[in-house]
Amino acid sequence: MALPQRKTLHFELPPLPYGEDALAPILSSETLQLHHGKHHRKYVDTMNQLLEQNPVNASSLEEVVRNASGKLFNNAAQAWNHDFFWHSLSPKGGRPSGALLARIERNFGSYDRFVEAFAKAGNEQFGSGWAWLVEKDGKLQVMATANADTPMAHGVRCLLTVDVWEHAYYIDYRNQRDRFLAAVIEKRLNWAFAEQNLGR
Ligand code: MN
Repeated sequence: MALPQRKTLHFELPPLPYGEDALAPILSSETLQLHHGKHHRKYVDTMNQLLEQNPVNASSLEEVVRNASGKLFNNAAQAWNHDFFWHSLSPKGGRPSGALLARIERNFGSYDRFVEAFAKAGNEQFGSGWAWLVEKDGKLQVMATANADTPMAHGVRCLLTVDVWEHAYYIDYRNQRDRFLAAVIEKRLNWAFAEQNLGR
């Protein structure tokens, strides 16, 4: 009897949801070209190579991330985190409203307190990682993860993220991660995306 065939998974680099210059002047097109076109692409390519060498039983990127460890986890989680990050940003930016704003005010005290907590999480993440707005145990919370780690792998619902690896800000802000975070939070967060994620 033939063993069931395992189909080798292959992922494409998802396109940016906007043009490379759409986030300027907060994030330059040079940053987006490198960050999406080189860094993000490399994670997707490496994940695909690892999946070819060692096929896994999974039908989506989320499943690969949840079931992988080691190198495959690092590259698959980075592939997922980056796509989630691009969608967490928007050329228009803005502020949360409606039910989401009410949740933020209930769980953080105010929108300004959220901004403070989110910036602090990103600034205090030692080395590379990610700042997140998540819903956990029925509450909106801010958290940080190191390197490729992602709340999604731990069953936590992600609403928004900002990449705080140096490659995310070094061209535009040099070593000033705090200025990068303040500008992105104030001018480029995609609150419509956060709302969608909360409703999912
Ligand atoms: Mn990155």
